[in-house]
Amino acid sequence: MEFLASSLLELIVQTSTNLPPDVRAAMSMTAAAETPATQSAQALDIILSNVDMAADDTGAICQDTGMPTFVVHTPVGVNQIHLRKAIHAAVAEATRLGKLRPNSVDSITGKNSGNNLGPETPVIHFEQWEENEIEIKLVLKGGGCENMNAQYSVPCQLDHMGRADRNLEGVRKCILHAVWKAQGLGCAPGALGVCIGSDRAHGYELAKGQLFRTLDDVNPDATLARLEAEIMEEANKLGVGAMGFGGKASLIGCKITAANRLPASFFVSVAYDCWAFRRLGVRLDASTGAIARWLYRDPARKVERMAKSEGFALTGREVVLTPPLTEAQVRALKVGDVVLITGEMFTGRDNVHAYLMKNPPPVDLHGAVLYHCGPVMLKEGERWTVKAAGPTTSMREEPYQADVIRRYGVRAVIGKGGMGAKTLAALQEFGAVYLNAIGGAAQFYARTVEEVLGVSLMEFGIPEAMWHLRVKGFAAIVTMDAHGGSLHADVEQATGEVLETLQKA
Ligand code: SF4
Repeated sequence: MEFLASSLLELIVQTSTNLPPDVRAAMSMTAAAETPATQSAQALDIILSNVDMAADDTGAICQDTGMPTFVVHTPVGVNQIHLRKAIHAAVAEATRLGKLRPNSVDSITGKNSGNNLGPETPVIHFEQWEENEIEIKLVLKGGGCENMNAQYSVPCQLDHMGRADRNLEGVRKCILHAVWKAQGLGCAPGALGVCIGSDRAHGYELAKGQLFRTLDDVNPDATLARLEAEIMEEANKLGVGAMGFGGKASLIGCKITAANRLPASFFVSVAYDCWAFRRLGVRLDASTGAIARWLYRDPARKVERMAKSEGFALTGREVVLTPPLTEAQVRALKVGDVVLITGEMFTGRDNVHAYLMKNPPPVDLHGAVLYHCGPVMLKEGERWTVKAAGPTTSMREEPYQADVIRRYGVRAVIGKGGMGAKTLAALQEFGAVYLNAIGGAAQFYARTVEEVLGVSLMEFGIPEAMWHLRVKGFAAIVTMDAHGGSLHADVEQATGEVLETLQKA
């Protein structure tokens, strides 16, 4: 199988950097339907530019390249042990090249393996089949959307929806509830894979398996096809909008399967994928390992450009911020303001926040901008370069953020998806703001980094280290201000009210 290694590497690189045509089409339609000049429309402009940038430079669409999950079908006689080793080697090589972020962390020690290999990573499912070719499908689903997966054991009681019973109406309520609950935390608009029934473990697996269907296919089961269409229509009335900013689109797809269950159990399992829905596949010649054909994409077709303009259309009303920031500067900001940051910022996510609870910061954070980001970085000679640098889900830092602001004088926190009441109170009390960058726009933001000035806490691994960056024109939207305003709380409440209207008598 002389071509196996290169075929597998190409599959991973294309999946990470080139969004499949069905997802591109769905995102184009979403952007075209959005009300112009809204925050949701601005977010979609950046998203579409980012998709183009990623394809142009074969850079990761999103810095979180997720848990690589392969579904492999092999003819009888193919050596699966050999194939597994080849997949591992290709994953390590794609990581070395900066196409995948090192994402495999020892759950006991917290140590990042650095090459995406480790116990049960990557995930590989093997099946035998009676065809002559090998089929390998890959989905890269990041942590932000993975954390928005949901599993319901019906009957159950749901916010805004009342009781969900053991019937299709109960299933409908659970799915809509999952979309509402995700808000912008999973980088909406999202795509759902759903399994009705099965047991807890297999139900999630089957739900994720639905993400291998194309967004524009029609379920062969008429009942499920109707339910899929109904969910799409109703979810897109909720008003979650791109990144949860409020807007027309909440979902770009909903794919549902049903599996038999135990009489005592009735699970509805929902796999939520983000707009950066990276899924591709290949058919390989079983004797050479060469790519016989691609699934989901036609490599002979020119990759169409998605952006109508170059990212973020500036209006001249943007507020330019040059850290270190003063209290007066941040108190002058209001929800909805667009800021452009030029100057220095520090990345910090889960490990950094936990560290700061017990240790002083390795740099002076007074007036600083703290960016919730786990970038893809490559060392070229003695210099670090940023390969992908979008925001991570901020809500994970909610237990720490208020203390970090209070103790160390941070003036601006950048992330995505918003934060909770404790952080909002700290913004008010100490004079700070929360800025929402556009989730998944990893190439867009990487291009704003002029220089990597240094790195602290490298023992946490590349995504979790504290990177010291100098940026130019880093665009973000104030979504939580120092006056108690929170766009996230407002959208959650408004969408919750809509959810109540979707209850059927
Ligand atoms: S687009 Fe958002 S949810 Fe999706 S992988 Fe990237 S950061 Fe995570």
